[in-house]
Amino acid sequence: MKIKEILQSEGNEQKIHVKGWVRTRRGSKHVSFIALNDGSTINSIQVVAEASDFDEELVKQITTGSCISVSGKLVASKGSGQAVEILAKTIEILGGADADEYPLQPKKHSLEFLREKAHLRFRTNTFSAVFRLRHALTFAVHKFFNDKGFFNLHTPIITGTDAEGAGEIFQVTNLDLENLPKNEEGKIDFSADFFGSKTNLTVSGQLEAELGALALGQVYTFGPTFRAENSNTSRHLSEFWMIEPEVAFADLNENMDLAEEFLKYCIQYCIENNAEDLQFLDARMEEEESKLKKEERSEMGLLERLQFVIENNFVRLTYREAIDVLRNSKPNKKKKFQYPINGFGDDLQSEHERYLVEKKYKKPVIITDYPKGIKAFYMRMNEDNETVRAMDILFPTIGEIVGGSQREERLDKLQERMEEMDVCQKELWWYLETRKFGTCTHSGFGLGFERLIMFVTGMKNIRDVIPFPRTPQNAEF
Ligand code: ATP
Ligand code: MN
Repeated sequence: MKIKEILQSEGNEQKIHVKGWVRTRRGSKHVSFIALNDGSTINSIQVVAEASDFDEELVKQITTGSCISVSGKLVASKGSGQAVEILAKTIEILGGADADEYPLQPKKHSLEFLREKAHLRFRTNTFSAVFRLRHALTFAVHKFFNDKGFFNLHTPIITGTDAEGAGEIFQVTNLDLENLPKNEEGKIDFSADFFGSKTNLTVSGQLEAELGALALGQVYTFGPTFRAENSNTSRHLSEFWMIEPEVAFADLNENMDLAEEFLKYCIQYCIENNAEDLQFLDARMEEEESKLKKEERSEMGLLERLQFVIENNFVRLTYREAIDVLRNSKPNKKKKFQYPINGFGDDLQSEHERYLVEKKYKKPVIITDYPKGIKAFYMRMNEDNETVRAMDILFPTIGEIVGGSQREERLDKLQERMEEMDVCQKELWWYLETRKFGTCTHSGFGLGFERLIMFVTGMKNIRDVIPFPRTPQNAEF
């Protein structure tokens, strides 16, 4: 039986068989109390082993980290702290864990230490809670879109395009790097490469998702995304998961409505289905924050913050309005921003995003209509010819969580922008054909899945919400 199920049962002396990993063993000469966890829930079951029933050598092997199989009966607990416990009749050691060598001691370890032990960190309360929530969020994403009649589209992981045009790509090749084939001009001959052309890992499935939307109506992708940004921040991974819905006939306002509804749905889903994990993480965050200076602590606890986001409308303002607010803000006037805001055209840095979300509005904020110069070629041009129909959603403690736009559906305007931004039209001939044949208004966005998990779990480093993080200089496990 799974421990989750056992803990919901009454202790009527019924026979029980359970397997799991030992969190702790304490007790006396006469009796041992084993906290056993099998990953099905944050809670462990207490196993009581009377010394008279067991071989002393066997009991010694029941150490933190070992894997055991227990048979016995479920009874109402005599101690406080749990309603039921298992009176063990037989215990089998499935896999021992040498107490001197096992890296996870029954005490609090730092997250940095646990990152180096990523193969074992699932066995801690914190990480098991995080990864159960990661699963719940995955499920919520699919449920949300499925219930709305979207189709999940698997877009390619290996591609020849760089959708964002930022050039932060990982090349994919099977050429012999020691002995590269060269053409007549002395350049690398990619026609000799595996795919007959230069390829890379995808930075976004959007362009392909658009093709799907312009036939299936509403699609979404949910897949791995790769960016070779050399930014060692707590919010960037080299390999992360992105959710990208794309909707035919939707304009920017409908796109924002969808994104807001979607984010609230995912959070609500976790509140309803993962209450125990969230309560644990809420308490964890409170404890972590109590170590901080008063001015660095957040105003809300984790659960309070999640509830707050669900209950409040996101603030929507244009980039021009945001720049005005920032230019006249206290930190800007007092030169407290690392990047001062001078006016139109300035890119918003995370310090500005956090000011708007955490200080000024104290709510999630959606900023729209950015200058064309700081956004991708596919975003729809506004009448002013200076701004595009982009939208970024900014979240407290996270900063940018969603980036999206209404797409440029007019062939001539799209070609004009590609020319200006030096995007190769020949390579994207298939993308352009959707504008040539049966084009229509459409919109979509990209949600960084790990950033959503960070928000829901309160984890402050993105490396702690993906099982095996890939970051510059690190691809272990
Ligand atoms: P940022 O400014 O934070 O680098 P971006 O503008 O490069 O983000 P987009 O290209 O709009 O991001 O990607 C869509 C979403 O993907 C972002 O809103 C964010 O949630 C997420 N994202 C982008 N880059 C990363 C990354 N390196 N690691 C994790 N998530 C990311
Ligand atoms: Mn980026």
